[in-house]
Amino acid sequence: MGMSFEKINVNRDIRHWLHTIEQGYRYTAGPIGTKFLEGLKAGKLLAGKCPVCGKLLIPPKAFCQYDFAEIKELVEIAPVGIVRTYTVLYEDSYGNKLPKPVVIGFIEFPGGVTGGLVHYIINVEPGNVRVGLKVRPVFRPENERRGGSITDIAGFEPV
Ligand SMILES: [Zn+2]
Repeated sequence: MGMSFEKINVNRDIRHWLHTIEQGYRYTAGPIGTKFLEGLKAGKLLAGKCPVCGKLLIPPKAFCQYDFAEIKELVEIAPVGIVRTYTVLYEDSYGNKLPKPVVIGFIEFPGGVTGGLVHYIINVEPGNVRVGLKVRPVFRPENERRGGSITDIAGFEPV
């Protein structure tokens, strides 16, 4: 049995699921993920703290990725991050031009925090976003927070 590969030049030609694969399913965030989301509702960034190695993990996971110890404790971290990589989107996933470009970044948190968050970079011209940019979370107004969503943060803006 042989394998064949077709060269695909247009992203839209790739066979994929679009907004349908999770229909009808709900995933639990788990006890730790739920506390993380509750923290967002309270306007706090919480990291999991491993009871064995002491590492801080964001987003928090049920088990430490280094020693598999169960993580039960969450600690608030300073709401200042660093953009480690980013991309600028000009089209939505259907290929429609966006009214204005959207920047998505991977944000790390200094002070020995492992992991990071992927989120919008806002309140800055896309051309002014760079790797190393210091950013802080912009929480939605309290009455707009859904409590259970990473979108309780509207995005990260330059400090
Ligand atoms: Zn650990």
